[in-house]
Amino acid sequence: MTSHVTHWINGKPWTGTASRQGDVYNPATGVVSGTVDFASVSDVDEAVAAAKAAFPEWRDASLSQRARVLFRFRELLVRDSEELARIISSEHGKVVSDAAGEVARGLEVVEFACGIPHLLKGGFSENVSTKVDAYSILQPLGVVTGITPFNFPAMVPMWMFPIAIACGNTFVLKPSEKDPSAAMKIAELWAEAGLPDGVFNVVHGDKTAVDALLEHKDVKAVSFVGSTPIARYIYETAARNGKRVQALGGAKNHMVVLPDADLDLAADAAVNAGFGSAGERCMAISVLVAVEPVADALLEKIKDRVSGLVTGPGDDPTSEMGPLVTRAHRDKVASYLASSVEQGATLAVDGREGLPSGDGFWLRPTLIDNVTPDMDCYQDEIFGPVLSVVRVRTFDEAMALVDANPYGNGTAIFTNDGGAARRFQNEVEVGMVGINVPIPVPMAYYSFGGWKASLFGDSHAHGTEGVHFYTRTKAVTSRWLDPSHGGVNLGFPTNG
Ligand code: NAD
Repeated sequence: MTSHVTHWINGKPWTGTASRQGDVYNPATGVVSGTVDFASVSDVDEAVAAAKAAFPEWRDASLSQRARVLFRFRELLVRDSEELARIISSEHGKVVSDAAGEVARGLEVVEFACGIPHLLKGGFSENVSTKVDAYSILQPLGVVTGITPFNFPAMVPMWMFPIAIACGNTFVLKPSEKDPSAAMKIAELWAEAGLPDGVFNVVHGDKTAVDALLEHKDVKAVSFVGSTPIARYIYETAARNGKRVQALGGAKNHMVVLPDADLDLAADAAVNAGFGSAGERCMAISVLVAVEPVADALLEKIKDRVSGLVTGPGDDPTSEMGPLVTRAHRDKVASYLASSVEQGATLAVDGREGLPSGDGFWLRPTLIDNVTPDMDCYQDEIFGPVLSVVRVRTFDEAMALVDANPYGNGTAIFTNDGGAARRFQNEVEVGMVGINVPIPVPMAYYSFGGWKASLFGDSHAHGTEGVHFYTRTKAVTSRWLDPSHGGVNLGFPTNG
C-alpha cells in the first residue's frame, strides 16, 4: 500500500489532477512508500489566491481570536505529537525519539507565538509636538511563503508559520518533496484548531513550484531554509521580484576542544552532535578541532562510544541512528570516505562496515582523522554521519580555522577556561555559539540564524526577529484639534 500526498489549499486537500508527481521513500527499506503531487504554476496560483482571499478577514481578527486559535493548535500538536513523529520518521528515516524532539522544538515556537498580543505592541509617544502624539503599529504583510528542507519537515516550517500567522499573515508552505506528509498532518491540525480556510496552505513540488512562489506578485515575503547554493538563489530571485526575504543556508559546524576540557563530556557531545539524526542536522558537528595534545585521548573515547552505536530503522526503539534520506544522498556521503583517504586522511572508523541488511540507505558513523582544510571532506558540507578531525597546535589556530570557513551557522568550544571561552564567544565569526554545549540551537524566544554563507538576508528565524520579519511598521503622527489651529506654515515639521 502506497500513500498519495497532495496539496492543501483553502482548508482542504486539493482535488485536482497533478501533471507531475514524485516518489517518496521509506529510507529504512529503500522502497517507494508513496507519491507526492508536484504543483504547476497554476496550482501555485490557486494556493496563493486562497491565501490572498483569506488575508483581509484574518488580518482583522482580533489578537485574542488569533491567540486562541494558536492555543488550540498547540493542544492538538501535543495530542498528536507521537503520530507526527512517526510520520516524520517513516519518510525522513530519523529515529522516532529524535523526530519527537524536533516536534517539541517546533512546539516551542507555537508557544512563543501564543504570546502574540504582547509581541505586537507598538510604541507611543505623547506630545512629540504640542498636542501632537506619535505611535507605531506593526501590521502583517499579506501572503507569505516558507520553502523548507527535508531534514526537519516539522520543526523548520514551525520556525516560520506560527509567527507569520499569529502576526496576521496568510501562509503558503512548500515543504521538501522528500518527506511531504508531516506538512499535511500539520494542515489538518490547523483546520481542527479552527484556523479559517486559506490562512495556511501547502503546495508540494520542486523548482517549478518554488519559482512560481518567488515570482508571484501576491507573495510579499519568502522564508527559506536549505542548502547554501539554493539559499543564495532564493535570496537573489526573491529580492529581484521585490520581496522581503530571509534565506538560511548550509553549515560546517566546528567543535573546538581545548586541552583542559572535560574529555568525557566532549566525547559524548561530539558523538551526539556528529551522529544524531545521521548528521543530517544543520547544527550537527561535522568538524572536530582538537587542540593538541588532546587529539589521541579524545579520539579513543569517541571510538569507544561509536563502536556501541546501534544503526537501524527509525521505528525500532533500539535504533540510535537511522538511515540517510535517499540512496543518492547516501552514495554522495559515502564518496567522501574514499576521497578523504585518497587525499591523505585516515579512516579511524569506517561507516561502510557492519551495515544493517536490506536495501535501506545505510551508512554507519564514520570518523576521519588527520583532515586538513584543503580536503574535500573539509571543504564540503557532507550532511551525513561523518565527523572529520582536524588537529591544531593552539587556540589561535583553532579560532583562525573556524573563522576562515565560509559557513558560520553554529560552533562550540569545550574547555574549563572561562577566559578562553569568553574570547571565543566574543570574537568568533559564527551566528550561534555553544560553550560546553554542542548543538546551541536557540530557544524559540531567541532567534535562529547563522552568519556568512549560512544566511542571506538580515533577519534570523523565530523569536522577535521573526515578528519583525513578518510585520511592517507604520508610524502615525496624530493631532486632534482642540481648539487651537496652527495656521499656514510651509516650513518642514519640527517639534515645538
Ligand atoms: P535543498 O536546498 O536541496 O532544498 C531545500 C528546499 O529548496 C526544498 O523545499 C527543495 O524542494 C527546494 N529546492 C531544491 N532545489 C531547488 C532549486 N534548484 N530551485 C528552487 N528550489 C529548490 O536542501 P535539503 O537537501 O532539503 O536540506 C538540507 C540542507 O538544508 C543542508 O544544506 C542543511 O545545512 C540546510 N539546512 C539549513 C538550516 C539552517 O537553519 N541554516 C536548517 C536546516 C537545514
